[in-house]
Amino acid sequence: MNITQALHKALRECPDALATADGDRRQSWRQLVSRVARLAGGLQGLGMRPGDRVAMLARNSDHYVEYLYGALWGGGVVNPVNIRWSAREIAYSLDDCDTRILFIDDTYQPLLPAIREHATGLETIVFVGDGELPDGAIPMEAVIDRSAAVADAHRHGDDLAAILYTGGTTGQPKGVMLSHGNCYLGAIGASLAAPRPPRQVGLHAAPLFHVAGMQSVFALSMRLGSHIVLPVFEPGQVLQAIEQHRIAEIFLVPTMLRMLLDHPGFASRDLSSLESIRYGASPMDVTLLERAMAALPGADFSQAYGMTELAPTVAVLPPRYHTAEGRKADKLRSAGVPTPVAEIRIVDPMDNELANHQVGEIVVRGPMVMQGYWNKPEQTAEALRGGWMHTGDAGYFDDDGFLYVVDRIKDMIVSGGENVYSAEVENTLLKLPQVELCAVFGVPDERWGERVHAAIKLRPDSELSESQLISHCKAHIANYKCPRSIEFVDEMPMSGAGKLLKFKMREAYWQNRERRVG
Ligand code: ATP
Ligand code: MG
Repeated sequence: MNITQALHKALRECPDALATADGDRRQSWRQLVSRVARLAGGLQGLGMRPGDRVAMLARNSDHYVEYLYGALWGGGVVNPVNIRWSAREIAYSLDDCDTRILFIDDTYQPLLPAIREHATGLETIVFVGDGELPDGAIPMEAVIDRSAAVADAHRHGDDLAAILYTGGTTGQPKGVMLSHGNCYLGAIGASLAAPRPPRQVGLHAAPLFHVAGMQSVFALSMRLGSHIVLPVFEPGQVLQAIEQHRIAEIFLVPTMLRMLLDHPGFASRDLSSLESIRYGASPMDVTLLERAMAALPGADFSQAYGMTELAPTVAVLPPRYHTAEGRKADKLRSAGVPTPVAEIRIVDPMDNELANHQVGEIVVRGPMVMQGYWNKPEQTAEALRGGWMHTGDAGYFDDDGFLYVVDRIKDMIVSGGENVYSAEVENTLLKLPQVELCAVFGVPDERWGERVHAAIKLRPDSELSESQLISHCKAHIANYKCPRSIEFVDEMPMSGAGKLLKFKMREAYWQNRERRVG
Protein backbone atom coordinates (compact mmCIF):
# COMPACT_ATOMS: atom_id res chain seq x y z
CA MET A 1 0.00 0.00 0.00
CA ASN A 2 2.41 2.55 -1.27
CA ILE A 3 1.43 5.56 -3.31
CA THR A 4 4.47 5.32 -5.58
CA GLN A 5 3.56 1.76 -6.60
CA ALA A 6 1.47 3.24 -9.39
CA LEU A 7 4.61 4.60 -11.00
CA HIS A 8 6.27 1.15 -11.10
CA LYS A 9 3.13 -0.27 -12.64
CA ALA A 10 3.08 2.44 -15.31
CA LEU A 11 6.77 1.85 -16.09
CA ARG A 12 6.10 -1.83 -16.70
CA GLU A 13 2.81 -1.54 -18.53
CA CYS A 14 2.77 1.71 -20.46
CA PRO A 15 6.13 3.52 -20.22
CA ASP A 16 5.51 5.51 -23.38
CA ALA A 17 1.92 6.51 -22.69
CA LEU A 18 1.17 10.12 -21.79
CA ALA A 19 1.65 10.71 -18.07
CA THR A 20 1.28 14.50 -17.80
CA ALA A 21 0.45 17.40 -20.09
CA ASP A 22 0.64 21.03 -19.08
CA GLY A 23 0.50 23.74 -21.74
CA ASP A 24 3.11 22.79 -24.32
CA ARG A 25 4.85 20.30 -22.04
CA ARG A 26 4.02 16.63 -22.36
CA GLN A 27 5.82 13.67 -20.88
CA SER A 28 5.53 9.91 -20.86
CA TRP A 29 5.52 7.79 -17.72
CA ARG A 30 9.16 6.90 -18.41
CA GLN A 31 10.07 10.58 -18.47
CA LEU A 32 7.96 11.38 -15.44
CA VAL A 33 9.43 8.57 -13.36
CA SER A 34 12.95 9.57 -14.39
CA ARG A 35 12.31 13.12 -13.18
CA VAL A 36 10.61 11.86 -10.01
CA ALA A 37 13.54 9.55 -9.15
CA ARG A 38 16.06 12.35 -9.74
CA LEU A 39 13.98 14.85 -7.80
CA ALA A 40 13.86 12.34 -4.95
CA GLY A 41 17.66 12.03 -5.12
CA GLY A 42 17.97 15.80 -5.18
CA LEU A 43 15.73 16.18 -2.13
CA GLN A 44 17.78 13.59 -0.25
CA GLY A 45 20.87 15.57 -1.23
CA LEU A 46 19.20 18.63 0.27
CA GLY A 47 18.87 16.78 3.55
CA MET A 48 15.43 15.19 3.27
CA ARG A 49 15.33 12.08 5.43
CA PRO A 50 12.55 9.48 5.62
CA GLY A 51 9.46 11.05 7.11
CA ASP A 52 10.63 14.65 6.58
CA ARG A 53 8.00 17.12 5.44
CA VAL A 54 8.32 18.84 2.08
CA ALA A 55 5.88 21.64 1.26
CA MET A 56 4.64 23.08 -2.02
CA LEU A 57 2.99 26.46 -2.48
CA ALA A 58 2.06 26.69 -6.13
CA ARG A 59 -0.63 26.76 -8.73
CA ASN A 60 -1.42 23.48 -10.43
CA SER A 61 1.16 22.26 -12.93
CA ASP A 62 2.84 19.07 -14.10
CA HIS A 63 5.57 20.03 -11.62
CA TYR A 64 3.02 19.65 -8.84
CA VAL A 65 2.59 16.01 -9.82
CA GLU A 66 6.38 15.60 -9.90
CA TYR A 67 6.68 17.21 -6.48
CA LEU A 68 4.08 14.88 -4.94
CA TYR A 69 5.70 11.76 -6.30
CA GLY A 70 9.28 13.00 -5.96
CA ALA A 71 8.94 13.69 -2.24
CA LEU A 72 7.14 10.38 -1.65
CA TRP A 73 9.61 8.38 -3.78
CA GLY A 74 12.43 9.82 -1.73
CA GLY A 75 10.72 8.79 1.52
CA GLY A 76 9.39 12.22 2.42
CA VAL A 77 5.95 13.45 3.48
CA VAL A 78 4.14 15.95 1.29
CA ASN A 79 2.68 19.10 2.79
CA PRO A 80 0.74 20.88 0.04
CA VAL A 81 -0.01 24.45 1.08
CA ASN A 82 -3.39 26.14 0.76
CA ILE A 83 -2.89 28.81 -1.90
CA ARG A 84 -5.45 31.14 -0.34
CA TRP A 85 -3.62 31.46 2.94
CA SER A 86 -1.78 34.53 4.10
CA ALA A 87 1.98 34.41 4.63
CA ARG A 88 1.40 34.15 8.36
CA GLU A 89 -0.97 31.21 8.07
CA ILE A 90 1.42 29.48 5.71
CA ALA A 91 4.35 30.09 8.03
CA TYR A 92 2.34 28.76 10.95
CA SER A 93 1.58 25.51 9.13
CA LEU A 94 5.18 25.08 7.93
CA ASP A 95 6.63 25.57 11.38
CA ASP A 96 3.88 23.57 13.06
CA CYS A 97 5.06 20.39 11.34
CA ASP A 98 8.77 21.29 11.07
CA THR A 99 8.91 21.71 7.32
CA ARG A 100 12.42 22.64 6.21
CA ILE A 101 11.99 22.41 2.41
CA LEU A 102 9.48 24.55 0.54
CA PHE A 103 8.74 24.46 -3.18
CA ILE A 104 7.27 27.74 -4.38
CA ASP A 105 6.29 28.97 -7.83
CA ASP A 106 6.51 32.42 -9.40
CA THR A 107 2.86 33.20 -8.55
CA TYR A 108 3.46 32.95 -4.81
CA GLN A 109 7.04 34.14 -4.75
CA PRO A 110 5.97 37.63 -3.54
CA LEU A 111 4.86 36.00 -0.26
CA LEU A 112 8.27 34.46 0.29
CA PRO A 113 9.94 37.23 2.34
CA ALA A 114 7.03 37.29 4.78
CA ILE A 115 6.90 33.49 4.94
CA ARG A 116 10.63 33.35 5.63
CA GLU A 117 10.31 35.95 8.34
CA HIS A 118 7.76 33.91 10.27
CA ALA A 119 8.66 30.31 9.34
CA THR A 120 11.90 30.16 11.22
CA GLY A 121 12.51 26.47 10.57
CA LEU A 122 12.57 26.86 6.79
CA GLU A 123 15.99 26.04 5.31
CA THR A 124 15.63 25.34 1.61
CA ILE A 125 13.55 27.02 -1.07
CA VAL A 126 13.05 25.18 -4.34
CA PHE A 127 11.79 27.48 -7.06
CA VAL A 128 9.27 26.15 -9.57
CA GLY A 129 8.83 27.94 -12.90
CA ASP A 130 10.55 30.49 -15.04
CA GLY A 131 10.34 33.76 -13.14
CA GLU A 132 13.17 35.51 -11.36
CA LEU A 133 14.94 33.24 -8.90
CA PRO A 134 14.34 34.35 -5.30
CA ASP A 135 17.42 34.97 -3.15
CA GLY A 136 19.02 31.77 -2.01
CA ALA A 137 16.51 29.55 -3.83
CA ILE A 138 17.42 26.58 -6.02
CA PRO A 139 15.53 26.03 -9.28
CA MET A 140 13.56 22.79 -9.33
CA GLU A 141 15.11 22.02 -12.72
CA ALA A 142 18.59 22.26 -11.21
CA VAL A 143 17.63 19.91 -8.38
CA ILE A 144 16.47 17.38 -10.97
CA ASP A 145 19.31 17.88 -13.47
CA ARG A 146 22.10 17.73 -10.94
CA SER A 147 20.89 14.61 -9.19
CA ALA A 148 21.21 10.93 -9.92
CA ALA A 149 18.07 8.85 -9.81
CA VAL A 150 17.59 7.04 -6.53
CA ALA A 151 15.61 3.89 -5.83
CA ASP A 152 12.07 4.27 -4.49
CA ALA A 153 12.15 4.45 -0.69
CA HIS A 154 9.16 2.05 -0.77
CA ARG A 155 7.57 3.42 2.33
CA HIS A 156 5.31 1.13 4.33
CA GLY A 157 1.53 1.47 4.37
CA ASP A 158 1.69 2.78 7.94
CA ASP A 159 4.28 5.42 7.12
CA LEU A 160 3.11 8.99 6.81
CA ALA A 161 2.57 10.21 3.24
CA ALA A 162 0.94 13.61 3.69
CA ILE A 163 0.14 16.32 6.17
CA LEU A 164 -2.75 18.42 4.92
CA TYR A 165 -3.86 21.46 6.83
CA THR A 166 -7.58 21.92 7.18
CA GLY A 167 -8.92 25.18 8.43
CA GLY A 168 -10.18 26.19 5.08
CA THR A 169 -13.86 26.35 5.83
CA THR A 170 -14.33 26.57 9.55
CA GLY A 171 -11.10 28.09 10.89
CA GLN A 172 -8.49 26.50 13.24
CA PRO A 173 -5.67 25.03 11.11
CA LYS A 174 -4.92 21.43 12.00
CA GLY A 175 -2.42 19.17 10.24
CA VAL A 176 -4.21 16.01 9.15
CA MET A 177 -1.75 13.10 9.05
CA LEU A 178 -2.46 10.62 6.28
CA SER A 179 -0.40 7.47 5.82
CA HIS A 180 0.40 5.82 2.50
CA GLY A 181 -2.21 3.22 3.44
CA ASN A 182 -4.83 5.89 4.13
CA CYS A 183 -4.32 7.52 0.73
CA TYR A 184 -4.11 4.20 -1.05
CA LEU A 185 -7.28 2.78 0.48
CA GLY A 186 -9.13 6.07 0.17
CA ALA A 187 -8.46 5.94 -3.56
CA ILE A 188 -9.30 2.23 -3.81
CA GLY A 189 -12.58 2.68 -1.95
CA ALA A 190 -13.66 5.56 -4.16
CA SER A 191 -12.64 3.66 -7.29
CA LEU A 192 -14.54 0.52 -6.30
CA ALA A 193 -17.66 2.53 -5.52
CA ALA A 194 -17.74 4.13 -8.98
CA PRO A 195 -15.41 2.09 -11.18
CA ARG A 196 -13.71 3.68 -14.16
CA PRO A 197 -11.79 2.04 -17.00
CA PRO A 198 -7.97 2.20 -16.99
CA ARG A 199 -5.78 4.61 -18.98
CA GLN A 200 -8.21 7.46 -19.37
CA VAL A 201 -7.47 11.13 -19.71
CA GLY A 202 -8.29 13.14 -16.62
CA LEU A 203 -8.28 16.91 -16.13
CA HIS A 204 -7.05 18.44 -12.89
CA ALA A 205 -8.94 21.69 -12.72
CA ALA A 206 -9.53 21.68 -8.96
CA PRO A 207 -6.54 22.78 -6.87
CA LEU A 208 -3.98 20.06 -6.22
CA PHE A 209 -3.19 21.30 -2.72
CA HIS A 210 -6.63 20.16 -1.64
CA VAL A 211 -7.15 16.55 -0.63
CA ALA A 212 -9.63 15.94 -3.44
CA GLY A 213 -7.12 17.15 -6.04
CA MET A 214 -4.28 15.16 -4.54
CA GLN A 215 -6.41 12.04 -4.36
CA SER A 216 -7.45 12.50 -8.00
CA VAL A 217 -3.75 12.39 -8.93
CA PHE A 218 -3.16 9.21 -6.94
CA ALA A 219 -6.33 7.46 -8.11
CA LEU A 220 -5.85 8.34 -11.78
CA SER A 221 -2.22 7.17 -11.65
CA MET A 222 -3.29 3.85 -10.14
CA ARG A 223 -5.36 3.35 -13.29
CA LEU A 224 -2.45 4.54 -15.47
CA GLY A 225 -4.49 7.49 -16.72
CA SER A 226 -3.05 10.65 -18.23
CA HIS A 227 -2.96 13.82 -16.16
CA ILE A 228 -3.88 17.04 -17.92
CA VAL A 229 -3.18 19.98 -15.64
CA LEU A 230 -4.52 23.53 -15.69
CA PRO A 231 -2.91 26.22 -13.51
CA VAL A 232 -6.16 27.48 -12.01
CA PHE A 233 -9.84 26.85 -12.41
CA GLU A 234 -10.92 29.27 -15.13
CA PRO A 235 -14.16 28.04 -16.73
CA GLY A 236 -13.32 29.11 -20.29
CA GLN A 237 -9.96 27.35 -20.13
CA VAL A 238 -11.46 24.26 -18.58
CA LEU A 239 -14.00 24.00 -21.41
CA GLN A 240 -11.27 24.53 -23.97
CA ALA A 241 -9.04 21.89 -22.36
CA ILE A 242 -11.87 19.35 -22.35
CA GLU A 243 -12.29 19.83 -26.09
CA GLN A 244 -8.58 19.97 -26.90
CA HIS A 245 -7.46 16.97 -24.82
CA ARG A 246 -10.62 14.91 -25.23
CA ILE A 247 -10.94 14.78 -21.44
CA ALA A 248 -12.84 11.73 -20.18
CA GLU A 249 -12.98 12.50 -16.48
CA ILE A 250 -12.99 15.46 -14.18
CA PHE A 251 -13.63 16.24 -10.52
CA LEU A 252 -15.56 19.41 -9.76
CA VAL A 253 -16.85 21.04 -6.64
CA PRO A 254 -20.43 22.29 -7.13
CA THR A 255 -19.39 25.94 -7.55
CA MET A 256 -17.08 24.92 -10.40
CA LEU A 257 -19.83 22.97 -12.11
CA ARG A 258 -22.06 26.03 -11.87
CA MET A 259 -19.36 28.26 -13.37
CA LEU A 260 -18.90 25.88 -16.30
CA LEU A 261 -22.60 25.73 -17.06
CA ASP A 262 -22.94 29.51 -16.84
CA HIS A 263 -19.97 30.18 -19.09
CA PRO A 264 -20.74 31.43 -22.62
CA GLY A 265 -18.28 28.84 -24.00
CA PHE A 266 -20.30 25.96 -22.60
CA ALA A 267 -22.60 25.64 -25.61
CA SER A 268 -19.93 26.12 -28.27
CA ARG A 269 -17.29 23.63 -27.06
CA ASP A 270 -17.27 19.96 -27.96
CA LEU A 271 -17.60 18.27 -24.58
CA SER A 272 -18.63 14.89 -25.95
CA SER A 273 -15.47 13.20 -24.62
CA LEU A 274 -16.61 13.69 -21.01
CA GLU A 275 -17.49 10.28 -19.62
CA SER A 276 -17.26 10.85 -15.91
CA ILE A 277 -17.97 13.87 -13.77
CA ARG A 278 -17.30 13.38 -10.08
CA TYR A 279 -18.59 16.08 -7.80
CA GLY A 280 -18.49 16.62 -4.07
CA ALA A 281 -16.60 18.37 -1.27
CA SER A 282 -19.60 20.55 -0.48
CA PRO A 283 -23.37 20.15 -0.67
CA MET A 284 -24.71 19.75 -4.19
CA ASP A 285 -27.74 21.77 -5.15
CA VAL A 286 -30.08 19.34 -6.90
CA THR A 287 -31.40 22.01 -9.28
CA LEU A 288 -27.85 22.60 -10.48
CA LEU A 289 -27.18 18.88 -10.74
CA GLU A 290 -30.27 18.33 -12.86
CA ARG A 291 -29.27 21.17 -15.11
CA ALA A 292 -25.80 19.66 -15.54
CA MET A 293 -27.15 16.20 -16.26
CA ALA A 294 -29.47 17.60 -18.92
CA ALA A 295 -26.66 19.62 -20.48
CA LEU A 296 -24.18 16.72 -20.49
CA PRO A 297 -26.29 13.67 -21.29
CA GLY A 298 -23.27 11.58 -22.34
CA ALA A 299 -21.47 11.82 -19.01
CA ASP A 300 -21.74 9.64 -15.92
CA PHE A 301 -22.17 11.67 -12.76
CA SER A 302 -21.13 10.45 -9.35
CA GLN A 303 -21.03 12.17 -5.99
CA ALA A 304 -18.32 11.76 -3.38
CA TYR A 305 -18.70 12.58 0.30
CA GLY A 306 -15.73 12.77 2.58
CA MET A 307 -13.21 14.97 4.25
CA THR A 308 -9.47 15.55 4.50
CA GLU A 309 -9.38 13.40 7.63
CA LEU A 310 -10.78 10.49 5.59
CA ALA A 311 -8.37 10.64 2.64
CA PRO A 312 -11.08 11.82 1.60
CA THR A 313 -13.93 9.74 0.11
CA VAL A 314 -16.10 7.47 2.28
CA ALA A 315 -19.46 7.53 0.51
CA VAL A 316 -20.32 7.60 -3.17
CA LEU A 317 -23.56 8.07 -5.06
CA PRO A 318 -22.78 5.99 -8.16
CA PRO A 319 -23.68 6.97 -11.72
CA ARG A 320 -26.67 4.66 -11.95
CA TYR A 321 -28.72 6.82 -9.57
CA HIS A 322 -28.21 9.70 -11.96
CA THR A 323 -29.65 7.90 -14.99
CA ALA A 324 -33.26 8.19 -16.12
CA GLU A 325 -33.94 4.68 -14.81
CA GLY A 326 -32.05 5.20 -11.55
CA ARG A 327 -33.75 8.53 -10.93
CA LYS A 328 -36.91 6.58 -10.09
CA ALA A 329 -35.20 5.59 -6.83
CA ASP A 330 -35.04 9.33 -6.02
CA LYS A 331 -31.59 9.37 -4.42
CA LEU A 332 -30.13 12.51 -5.95
CA ARG A 333 -30.34 14.31 -2.63
CA SER A 334 -28.23 11.61 -1.03
CA ALA A 335 -24.45 11.42 -0.81
CA GLY A 336 -24.72 7.73 -1.65
CA VAL A 337 -23.66 4.58 0.14
CA PRO A 338 -20.46 3.87 2.09
CA THR A 339 -17.54 2.75 -0.07
CA PRO A 340 -16.49 -0.90 0.37
CA VAL A 341 -13.75 0.14 2.80
CA ALA A 342 -15.73 2.55 4.98
CA GLU A 343 -18.13 1.90 7.83
CA ILE A 344 -20.49 4.76 8.58
CA ARG A 345 -22.85 5.31 11.49
CA ILE A 346 -25.07 8.07 12.73
CA VAL A 347 -24.75 8.82 16.43
CA ASP A 348 -26.21 11.13 19.06
CA PRO A 349 -23.98 13.39 21.20
CA MET A 350 -23.43 10.46 23.60
CA ASP A 351 -22.20 8.34 20.67
CA ASN A 352 -25.25 6.06 20.70
CA GLU A 353 -26.18 4.80 17.28
CA LEU A 354 -29.40 6.30 15.89
CA ALA A 355 -32.12 4.65 13.82
CA ASN A 356 -32.73 5.34 10.14
CA HIS A 357 -34.06 8.81 9.35
CA GLN A 358 -32.83 10.21 12.66
CA VAL A 359 -30.38 13.05 12.22
CA GLY A 360 -27.13 12.83 14.18
CA GLU A 361 -23.40 13.12 13.70
CA ILE A 362 -21.85 11.11 10.88
CA VAL A 363 -19.00 8.95 12.23
CA VAL A 364 -16.68 6.80 10.14
CA ARG A 365 -14.39 3.85 10.76
CA GLY A 366 -12.00 2.17 8.38
CA PRO A 367 -8.46 2.03 7.04
CA MET A 368 -8.70 5.46 5.42
CA VAL A 369 -9.19 7.29 8.73
CA MET A 370 -6.31 9.67 9.41
CA GLN A 371 -3.51 8.91 11.85
CA GLY A 372 -4.45 12.03 13.80
CA TYR A 373 -3.85 15.77 13.85
CA TRP A 374 -0.18 16.64 13.92
CA ASN A 375 0.90 17.60 17.42
CA LYS A 376 -2.67 17.92 18.63
CA PRO A 377 -3.25 14.88 20.85
CA GLU A 378 -6.34 16.31 22.51
CA GLN A 379 -8.11 17.24 19.30
CA THR A 380 -7.09 13.87 17.84
CA ALA A 381 -8.51 11.97 20.80
CA GLU A 382 -11.70 14.00 20.62
CA ALA A 383 -12.13 13.48 16.87
CA LEU A 384 -11.29 9.75 16.98
CA ARG A 385 -13.04 8.86 20.22
CA GLY A 386 -14.25 5.28 20.44
CA GLY A 387 -12.30 4.42 17.28
CA TRP A 388 -14.63 6.43 15.01
CA MET A 389 -13.82 9.60 13.15
CA HIS A 390 -16.35 12.23 14.20
CA THR A 391 -16.94 14.23 11.07
CA GLY A 392 -18.74 17.23 12.54
CA ASP A 393 -21.34 16.68 9.83
CA ALA A 394 -24.99 16.03 10.58
CA GLY A 395 -26.73 13.38 8.53
CA TYR A 396 -29.00 10.37 8.45
CA PHE A 397 -29.50 7.08 6.65
CA ASP A 398 -32.65 6.14 4.77
CA ASP A 399 -34.10 2.62 4.79
CA ASP A 400 -32.07 1.66 1.71
CA GLY A 401 -28.75 2.48 3.36
CA PHE A 402 -28.24 5.82 1.61
CA LEU A 403 -26.52 8.56 3.53
CA TYR A 404 -27.86 12.12 3.57
CA VAL A 405 -25.57 14.92 4.67
CA VAL A 406 -27.84 17.63 6.02
CA ASP A 407 -25.38 20.19 7.31
CA ARG A 408 -22.23 20.84 9.20
CA ILE A 409 -23.19 20.67 12.86
CA LYS A 410 -21.58 24.10 13.32
CA ASP A 411 -23.81 25.52 10.59
CA MET A 412 -27.05 24.11 11.96
CA ILE A 413 -29.46 26.73 13.18
CA VAL A 414 -31.60 26.14 16.25
CA SER A 415 -34.57 28.43 15.94
CA GLY A 416 -37.40 28.29 18.44
CA GLY A 417 -36.19 24.82 19.51
CA GLU A 418 -36.35 23.45 15.97
CA ASN A 419 -33.29 22.42 14.00
CA VAL A 420 -32.89 24.15 10.68
CA TYR A 421 -30.36 22.74 8.24
CA SER A 422 -28.84 25.59 6.32
CA ALA A 423 -28.21 23.39 3.29
CA GLU A 424 -31.93 22.66 2.88
CA VAL A 425 -32.83 26.34 2.94
CA GLU A 426 -30.02 27.08 0.47
CA ASN A 427 -31.28 24.38 -1.87
CA THR A 428 -34.72 25.97 -1.76
CA LEU A 429 -33.41 29.44 -2.53
CA LEU A 430 -31.26 28.11 -5.37
CA LYS A 431 -34.39 26.87 -7.11
CA LEU A 432 -34.95 30.48 -8.12
CA PRO A 433 -33.11 31.05 -11.38
CA GLN A 434 -32.26 34.62 -10.35
CA VAL A 435 -30.22 33.40 -7.38
CA GLU A 436 -26.62 32.70 -8.27
CA LEU A 437 -25.21 31.94 -4.82
CA CYS A 438 -26.60 31.94 -1.33
CA ALA A 439 -25.51 31.23 2.18
CA VAL A 440 -27.89 30.62 5.04
CA PHE A 441 -26.76 30.98 8.61
CA GLY A 442 -28.14 31.68 12.05
CA VAL A 443 -27.96 35.02 13.79
CA PRO A 444 -28.88 35.46 17.47
CA ASP A 445 -32.44 36.45 18.11
CA GLU A 446 -34.04 37.37 21.41
CA ARG A 447 -37.26 35.57 20.79
CA TRP A 448 -36.15 32.51 18.81
CA GLY A 449 -32.64 31.95 20.13
CA GLU A 450 -31.38 31.97 16.58
CA ARG A 451 -33.00 33.38 13.51
CA VAL A 452 -32.49 32.15 9.95
CA HIS A 453 -30.62 34.69 7.86
CA ALA A 454 -29.70 34.45 4.18
CA ALA A 455 -27.03 36.23 2.16
CA ILE A 456 -27.91 36.25 -1.52
CA LYS A 457 -25.94 36.96 -4.64
CA LEU A 458 -28.27 37.54 -7.55
CA ARG A 459 -27.30 36.85 -11.12
CA PRO A 460 -26.29 39.92 -13.10
CA ASP A 461 -29.32 41.94 -14.25
CA SER A 462 -31.68 39.95 -12.05
CA GLU A 463 -34.05 41.46 -9.57
CA LEU A 464 -35.77 39.92 -6.62
CA SER A 465 -36.95 41.50 -3.39
CA GLU A 466 -36.52 40.26 0.14
CA SER A 467 -40.24 39.52 0.40
CA GLN A 468 -40.27 37.60 -2.91
CA LEU A 469 -37.43 35.42 -1.67
CA ILE A 470 -39.11 34.76 1.64
CA SER A 471 -42.47 33.94 0.11
CA HIS A 472 -40.77 31.53 -2.30
CA CYS A 473 -39.33 29.73 0.72
CA LYS A 474 -42.70 29.71 2.48
CA ALA A 475 -44.18 27.96 -0.53
CA HIS A 476 -41.59 25.17 -0.32
CA ILE A 477 -40.45 24.61 3.25
CA ALA A 478 -41.84 24.87 6.76
CA ASN A 479 -42.28 28.35 8.11
CA TYR A 480 -39.67 28.04 10.87
CA LYS A 481 -37.02 27.20 8.26
CA CYS A 482 -37.66 30.28 6.16
CA PRO A 483 -35.21 33.18 6.36
CA ARG A 484 -36.41 36.04 8.57
CA SER A 485 -33.94 38.43 7.03
CA ILE A 486 -32.04 38.67 3.79
CA GLU A 487 -29.02 40.65 2.69
CA PHE A 488 -27.91 41.09 -0.89
CA VAL A 489 -24.20 40.81 -1.56
CA ASP A 490 -22.00 41.27 -4.64
CA GLU A 491 -19.35 38.73 -3.67
CA MET A 492 -19.19 35.64 -1.54
CA PRO A 493 -15.97 34.61 0.12
CA MET A 494 -14.73 31.25 -1.22
CA SER A 495 -12.03 28.94 0.05
CA GLY A 496 -9.17 27.84 -2.18
CA ALA A 497 -11.13 24.67 -2.81
CA GLY A 498 -14.17 26.60 -4.03
CA LYS A 499 -16.30 26.33 -0.90
CA LEU A 500 -18.36 29.16 0.57
CA LEU A 501 -16.75 30.49 3.72
CA LYS A 502 -19.76 30.97 5.96
CA PHE A 503 -17.77 31.94 8.99
CA LYS A 504 -16.50 34.96 7.03
CA MET A 505 -20.05 35.86 6.04
CA ARG A 506 -21.16 35.60 9.65
CA GLU A 507 -18.31 37.97 10.59
CA ALA A 508 -19.28 40.34 7.79
CA TYR A 509 -22.88 40.29 8.96
CA TRP A 510 -21.80 41.38 12.43
CA GLN A 511 -19.48 44.07 11.11
CA ASN A 512 -22.21 45.49 8.90
CA ARG A 513 -24.66 45.32 11.75
CA GLU A 514 -22.33 47.17 14.07
CA ARG A 515 -21.88 49.77 11.39
CA ARG A 516 -25.66 50.04 11.02
CA VAL A 517 -26.23 50.21 14.75
CA GLY A 518 -23.19 52.36 15.53
P1 ATP B 1 -12.09 22.67 7.59
O1 ATP B 1 -12.26 21.34 8.21
O2 ATP B 1 -10.70 23.00 7.38
O3 ATP B 1 -12.83 23.76 8.23
P2 ATP B 1 -13.48 21.59 5.38
O4 ATP B 1 -14.25 20.80 6.39
O5 ATP B 1 -14.25 22.26 4.29
O6 ATP B 1 -12.60 22.68 6.10
P3 ATP B 1 -12.60 19.42 3.82
O7 ATP B 1 -11.95 18.27 4.50
O8 ATP B 1 -12.11 19.82 2.49
O9 ATP B 1 -12.40 20.67 4.73
O10 ATP B 1 -14.14 19.17 3.63
C1 ATP B 1 -14.88 18.20 4.30
C2 ATP B 1 -16.28 18.69 4.54
O11 ATP B 1 -16.91 19.07 3.30
C3 ATP B 1 -17.16 17.64 5.12
O12 ATP B 1 -17.01 17.56 6.52
C4 ATP B 1 -18.55 18.12 4.70
O13 ATP B 1 -19.04 19.12 5.58
C5 ATP B 1 -18.30 18.75 3.34
N1 ATP B 1 -18.62 17.80 2.26
C6 ATP B 1 -17.77 17.00 1.61
N2 ATP B 1 -18.39 16.26 0.68
C7 ATP B 1 -19.69 16.60 0.73
C8 ATP B 1 -20.87 16.18 0.03
N3 ATP B 1 -20.82 15.28 -0.94
N4 ATP B 1 -22.04 16.75 0.39
C9 ATP B 1 -22.10 17.66 1.38
N5 ATP B 1 -21.04 18.10 2.07
C10 ATP B 1 -19.84 17.58 1.76
MG1 MG C 1 -13.55 19.82 8.12
